[in-house]
Formats: sequence, structure tokens, C-alpha cells
Amino acid sequence: MSLTLYVDRARFRANQQRVLERRPGLVPVAKGNGYGVSVETLAAEAAALGVDVLAVGTYDELPAAESAFPGSLLVLTPWRPFGAADRASSDPRVIHTVSRPDDLARLLDTEPGARFVLEHVTSMLRHGMTATQLRELAEARSGSGDDGRLEGLEGVAFHLPMTGGSHLAEVRRLLTDVVAAGLPTRTVFVSHLTDDELAALARDWPDFTIRPRTGTDLWLGDREALRARATVLDVHPVDRGAVYGYRGRSAPRAGTILVVSGGTAHGIGLEAPTGAGTVRARAAALARGGLDAVGLVRSPYSIGGKPRLFAEPPHMQASMLFLPAGAPVPEIGDEVDVRVRFTATSFDRVQFS
Ligand SMILES: *Cc1c(COP(=O)(O)O)cnc(C)c1O
Repeated sequence: MSLTLYVDRARFRANQQRVLERRPGLVPVAKGNGYGVSVETLAAEAAALGVDVLAVGTYDELPAAESAFPGSLLVLTPWRPFGAADRASSDPRVIHTVSRPDDLARLLDTEPGARFVLEHVTSMLRHGMTATQLRELAEARSGSGDDGRLEGLEGVAFHLPMTGGSHLAEVRRLLTDVVAAGLPTRTVFVSHLTDDELAALARDWPDFTIRPRTGTDLWLGDREALRARATVLDVHPVDRGAVYGYRGRSAPRAGTILVVSGGTAHGIGLEAPTGAGTVRARAAALARGGLDAVGLVRSPYSIGGKPRLFAEPPHMQASMLFLPAGAPVPEIGDEVDVRVRFTATSFDRVQFS
């Protein structure tokens, strides 16, 4: 009855091993919907990998990660003096991300021994301190005879954009800022660099430890390891003109209405219409008797090896598909393939084999 994610454990783990070998110092990232698999399961996978640090996205995700993973837990969302950060503030396994000088003072007021990384702002302009702010923090420390403010410093963090070519030049500039600031750390947490870029940095900055935070490549790098499948819940043969659905549409021709698991609650959405964008394309599709011409849009479900059309927009937990006469009709209880974005899908079940 479910939308199920099947995971081939051997392939899933073989990919993780490959990524870990290519990226020494790897920090796995488990956040959000756990890349389709769940934060808790990924925390257990990270524990099996034997890494010392796991990154989660938010303070709210800590409970899901901390029982399954025994090491340090880096929270990627910067600490703020409000919200969920309070709850986790005295866990010695937690490494906070601090992106404003004032927040560091507030954090250390509430938790004097806190462990943290300082985020340096990048061209993403999401969070982070400027080079000047980093330098001022380092100077305040030495100037006042070390008041212990940087005692818990575990490194500096850069969050880089994903596109726009190589970010190596930017990383070099940011590393120069860290050196110039005089911060007492040589550990840098980075995102979204290629293996070659990481290798170049390791070569050119040998006194630094570069720690790549990685989620997508680690968990979803082998797409063959994961398979999303929906269950056929009902099958209705229809004649041309038969009325169906919430909107009382009529079947454009004879075929089958199929009800399958998976709807908006799972993140199943409408796909773009199947190429009948222009008037000419629509006319051509009409002439061919194409279903796209009658306003049905492509769904992510495949049956008989072909993507199929929604009979109407997805419902909350199920979707209605239209199969034209002649297409193979699955049976109630059969499973069919569905193409999803793993990071945006809530599965009813995750099954490892
Ligand atoms: C999500 C995230 C990552 C990991 O991103 P992937 O593209 O999934 O590898 C790294 N760093 C930060 C700060 C993130 O938020």
C-alpha cells in the first residue's frame, strides 16, 4: 500500500566506501529527509563507516542522529541566541557553527566549554563572518591574554556554491583570510568541491586539514543502489468519455484508470506537460491522437518501461494514472517504478536488502 524506497545495502555501502577513500577527512551530512533514507539510518551508516564527525542540518535533527552515531555532531545551521539551539547547548558531542561575533560571546556565556567552528562568509552570502571579523576575534583573544574565547575552536567552515565552475580560487582566497586572521586552527570544513579540487588543496596547503562535508555523493552517488516503487491500489477499465476523478473529467479514449500509491504528501508532483507546449506541437499531438494534446500531463510513474500520464493531479497519498488501451495493465498489488527526487520525497517505507 506504500511508496517504498528499496535500498541495495551492498551497493549503497560500496559507494560510501569509494567516496570515503577519495575524500580523506570526510564529514558525512545527514539532514532533512535524510536524503530519502532518514537521518537516523544515515547516522547508523556513518557509524559503520567509522568517521569521527557527522553533520546534521539543524538542532532539531540532533535527537535522530545522536543515538545511532557515537562521535561528534556538527550542526550546520549557525547557532543563534534563540530557538532550538538552547536544548542542545550542554551536549559535549555537539559542535556548533558560529557565524556572527556576537553569537560567539552569547554561546560561551550560556555554555563556557562549547565546541564550535567559525563560519567564513563565501560568495554564496548565506551565513558567515568577514575576514575582518575573523581577525578581530583572533586579536581579541591574544590581546586580552587569551580569555579562552577560542578554546573550543574546532575549525573554520566555508559553504560554497554548487555551480559556476571551479571554486578553487575562492577557497584559496578564503584560506589566505584564515591564515591572515591568525586563528589558532588549521582545520577547514568545506562543501561542494570536486575530488580533484580537494586533492589540489591538500597538495598546496599541506599544513591544513581540509574536511569535505558530503551528502549527495555519499548517499546518492550510486543511483542503482536505490529504487522507488509504488503499489497499484486499484484498476478501472474505462470507455471513451467515462467520467472519473475529483474534477469529473472524461476519459479521452478507452483505456484504464490506475490508482497508485504516492501523492502530494510524499512529494509527488506534477511533471511538465509532455512536449505539447506550442500550438503547433499541440496540433501535431492531436493529429497523432496523442494524450498530451488533451491536457494530460506526464507523471513520474513508469509502467511497461514507459512514463505514464496522470489522469488528474496527484491526490494527497495516491495518484490516478491513465493507461491507453493496448498498454500492459498491472494487477492490484503489483509494484511500479516511480522516478523521484530522493531529497524531496517522504517514503512510507525504506527497505534494505
Ligand atoms: C547540505 C550541506 C552539505 C552537503 O551537501 P550535498 O550537496 O548533499 O553534498 C554541505 N555543507 C552544508 C553547509 C550543507 O548545508
